[in-house]
Amino acid sequence: MTAPVADRPPRRITILGATGSIGQSTLAVIAERPQDYVIEAVTAGTNAAKLAASARAAGAGLAVIAEPSQYGELKAALAGTGIEAAAGADAVVEAATRPVDLVVAAIVGAAGLAPTYAAVTVPTRIALANKECLVSAGDLFVRAAQSAGVSILPVDSEHNAIFQILDGRRIDHVERIAITASGGPFRSWSSSAMAAARPADALKHPNWSMGPKITIDSATLMNKGLELIEAHHLFGLAGDRLDVLIHPQSIVHGIVTFRDGAMLAGMGPADMRGPIAHCLAWPDRSPVPARRFDLAALDALTFERPDVERFPALRLAREALASGGWATNILSAANEEAVAAFLAGRIGFLQIAEIVEEAIARAPAVVPPRAAATIEDAIALDRQGRQIAGAIIAERASA
Ligand code: NAD
Ligand code: MG
Repeated sequence: MTAPVADRPPRRITILGATGSIGQSTLAVIAERPQDYVIEAVTAGTNAAKLAASARAAGAGLAVIAEPSQYGELKAALAGTGIEAAAGADAVVEAATRPVDLVVAAIVGAAGLAPTYAAVTVPTRIALANKECLVSAGDLFVRAAQSAGVSILPVDSEHNAIFQILDGRRIDHVERIAITASGGPFRSWSSSAMAAARPADALKHPNWSMGPKITIDSATLMNKGLELIEAHHLFGLAGDRLDVLIHPQSIVHGIVTFRDGAMLAGMGPADMRGPIAHCLAWPDRSPVPARRFDLAALDALTFERPDVERFPALRLAREALASGGWATNILSAANEEAVAAFLAGRIGFLQIAEIVEEAIARAPAVVPPRAAATIEDAIALDRQGRQIAGAIIAERASA
């Protein structure tokens, strides 16, 4: 029997997106320390069998599937367990607002907007993996969390590293923040090679094992663009004080430069169990049986500037951040549509960024170019962004 993290009762946890890469890693971390955690609710999109298996293994109180047609399968798979079953988007929101100590927000994309926003309006802590929430509606999320007294703990490895560096430090002492990127599978590919890249090529991430959408975002570097916007909202720095460095070894995740020139770097293995465990236990720390580095055995840590010519998504994200909330919302929505179209074989790899750029250019003719004032506005703007992108994809696919 290992000692508990601290002298406190088990922490009650809800996991939104429990069947995904982050959700499953969260359950794996919790399974190592069952005495420290109680799972209140787990939710998923469409995979009832996987959700039921996860709920049973974790001894959850409630399992919610967003897709209503999956209710029967979920209910049957949970029969006799005492685990409550529910279905539908409203039931996911209801699960997100149940009183717990921490909600892990790990739904992918804009599907997470409503439930994650609901979770930041009730006094609790939130471990935020769903970066698209901050990209689409960062001002709303930060304001809602502040007024409800909710701590947003970043799960994203770069932001988690920065959060750990800043813990208790003054943000007005910070001059710059840098986040690193592995560079993805196409770091050394020419544009013409990337033009012919197939989904299977783009899904081969060199360092991280993740869900399909973020893996494609890592290949275009849109992931790093979304993360710049995420960093802006989490740490309050303007875009021109946020840097991206290509660091193929994925060992240093974030670097803070203070105004006296001191630089603190956050390091760790390319394993999301570290940041997840940090959020679960914060402000304590719990043991994680992940790899430890022998620094003396490492070859070299290298850093280079990203090539925004070959990876225009990074430029688009910076421009959208400078334009404001409406543009980042359209960026995220159009990107989700374009990534889905690429994975479905409807468009080429380089067209992902082209479609996002075109959607942002067309948007002001259709939507008022101002940030959403409510979460409903943000969701509506997301829908419009998808429609604009969908039209562009249809034009290109038929050309
Ligand atoms: P994933 O595709 O593996 O899992 C997504 C989860 O969301 C699944 O549980 C799925 O059932 C659920 N979901 C999808 N559509 C839904 C809907 N309409 N309603 C309710 N639930 C729905 O994704 P992932 O890689 O775990 O990423 C999750 C989030 O975390 C993303 O925003 C991603 O950018 C971020 N993130 C992931 C990693 C990683 O290592 N995977 C690292 C940093 C940040
Ligand atoms: Mg990241």
